[in-house]
Amino acid sequence: MSSEPVSPTHARDLEPAISERGRALLAAVEPERLIALSPAWWQDRLMEWATDDPEFRVKLLRFVDVLPALRSSRAIADHVRQYFRDDAPAAVRLGSAIGRRKIFRPVLSRVVRQGVFAMAERFIGGASPAAALPRLRELVEDGTAYTIDLLGEATLSEAEADGYRDRYFEVFQVLGKSRGWDAPSDVRQPNVSIKLSALTSHFEPAAPGATYAALRGRLLPILECAREAGAFVNINMEQYRYKDLTHTVLEQLVREEGVARWPDLGIVVQAYLRDAGDDIARIEGIARERGAPITVRLVKGAYWDEETILAQQQSHPVPVFEEKAATDANYERCSGLLVEAYPHLRPAFASHNPRSLAQAIAVAEEARIPRAEVEFQMLYGMAEGLRRAVQAQGYRTRVYVPAGEILPGMAYLVRRLLENTSNESWLVNKHEHGDAAEALRPPAPAPPATPARRRRFRNHPPPPTGVAPSRRAQRHGPGDRAGARIVRGRSPPPHRRRGRRVGRVARGASAGDALRPHGPRRRSQGGARGPCGSGGASGLSRLAGHIGASPRPRPPASGEADGRAPLRARRDDGLRKRQALA
Ligand SMILES: Cc1cc2nc3c(=O)[nH]c(=O)nc-3n(C[C@H](O)[C@H](O)[C@H](O)COP(=O)(O)OP(=O)(O)OC[C@H]3O[C@@H](n4cnc5c(N)ncnc54)[C@H](O)[C@@H]3O)c2cc1C
Repeated sequence: MSSEPVSPTHARDLEPAISERGRALLAAVEPERLIALSPAWWQDRLMEWATDDPEFRVKLLRFVDVLPALRSSRAIADHVRQYFRDDAPAAVRLGSAIGRRKIFRPVLSRVVRQGVFAMAERFIGGASPAAALPRLRELVEDGTAYTIDLLGEATLSEAEADGYRDRYFEVFQVLGKSRGWDAPSDVRQPNVSIKLSALTSHFEPAAPGATYAALRGRLLPILECAREAGAFVNINMEQYRYKDLTHTVLEQLVREEGVARWPDLGIVVQAYLRDAGDDIARIEGIARERGAPITVRLVKGAYWDEETILAQQQSHPVPVFEEKAATDANYERCSGLLVEAYPHLRPAFASHNPRSLAQAIAVAEEARIPRAEVEFQMLYGMAEGLRRAVQAQGYRTRVYVPAGEILPGMAYLVRRLLENTSNESWLVNKHEHGDAAEALRPPAPAPPATPARRRRFRNHPPPPTGVAPSRRAQRHGPGDRAGARIVRGRSPPPHRRRGRRVGRVARGASAGDALRPHGPRRRSQGGARGPCGSGGASGLSRLAGHIGASPRPRPPASGEADGRAPLRARRDDGLRKRQALA
């Protein structure tokens, strides 16, 4: 591999070139005309309503999340009524009112199910690799490459992980048929995207060695199969907590015989991460060491809401930028770093944002990277006009086509809905206006403010609510000295409070609950799995509840305003009395 240095892309002001490329792209985008009242038209209206009304957005996301767990037409009709009877667009309210009459419930539930499934089909290529094959063929014969992803993430059992591996074997078998397709070989080449967390039920950042050992038995046969099929394998990037582990797996993987110099391997870098530049440097180091290129798909990142909420909830520094313009600016910085790392890294820019795409084209041209070595990628069902415009400029484009059943695909659908209904999204904001200057304006993040004081880190768990001093604190409030110590987190950690019955927890909770840092775990109500393998419907709903819901004034808790003991303390008192009677 040549290590010829590429001149730094930031040496020259690229704005005129970016503007020129961007205007050409936007001019070539043909507006999509939908037939009024067609299913696609209704889907667009729903997304528009969700974008304009944060309350409705939350309800829609919660409903889509819970739907797979609803088994009867009555359950569906009841949920439609409860979610949408007020504060929803008139057409949706009408549907919800219809659900009150028993006779209409089967029809309503069919229409709703079909509507959500049709929405999923907009983003999902087919229920299986074979079902997605006609979509892939259409793309390839139209000159567009693809990557196929099997829906499913965060596997919960080893049997499930085996099933995921076997489905990849099936993919390579199915894609064998593509040899006869009428297209150049670089477009026709089978290309798959995989999620490591789906290949073992113990994808554990705290145990990278054991995780690799668990993954190896499934990952290596997949790669062997890919090599035999002449396919390319891309490793997706998931939540931030898995990032280091994913890099460690890549490092170990390229030491394996047969993979070491295999060039058809790629990984993702997420530009919304503050340390994305370091990630590019680390992957470049891996590529240099093994002496073969690695393709890097540069994305902004699909888990922004989750990363922000979890970090805040755990009082950790937020790993992602908190301003959209800062993510956009970092994407551009990373585009520059990526082309500077060529030929060790091969750039694949994944975005639906014309400014980000135009900037990537401009830096790649400035660095004189051959067009065949650069690629632009988009998601199935999104920004099709823009993708065609990039292709018309002579670049290879690739569409990411997920395949799989709707149920495991719900997390993917919710992520696409989040993206398509976010006020921050380019797709929502600027596409409609057709204002090229606005769409192509350079991202201008606010200068970094003095870091806000974070809540003090507490390295011991809060006391369980069943502990007597804790209850006293709640009853008397922070004025009580013992209580104040606990409320402010200054009490000694439970294991040091000798002689007290600190390990006791509320009745019905397990010993594990007592030791769990955040108190007894709530039992999951829903049957479906959530995006992180958590309690399904309830997990996603909680996330949806945090997103976009307009802040409401918190009603004073009973007892806060009228001088009576707080509700929780009174409830605990009641519980104590009942336990005494039992
Ligand atoms: C081919 C392909 C493969 C992909 N693979 C992955 C993958 O492996 N892992 C992954 O995480 N994602 C992946 N994605 C999804 C990708 O992250 C999103 O589609 C992408 O972020 C949307 O960005 P955009 O440039 O298209 O749109 P834009 O509208 O320009 O940007 C939207 C993005 O900006 C960021 N953002 C939104 N609000 C804020 C805010 N307030 N502050 C800071 N940042 C904000 C978020 O990342 C959001 O997704 C993939 C996408 C494609 C096209």
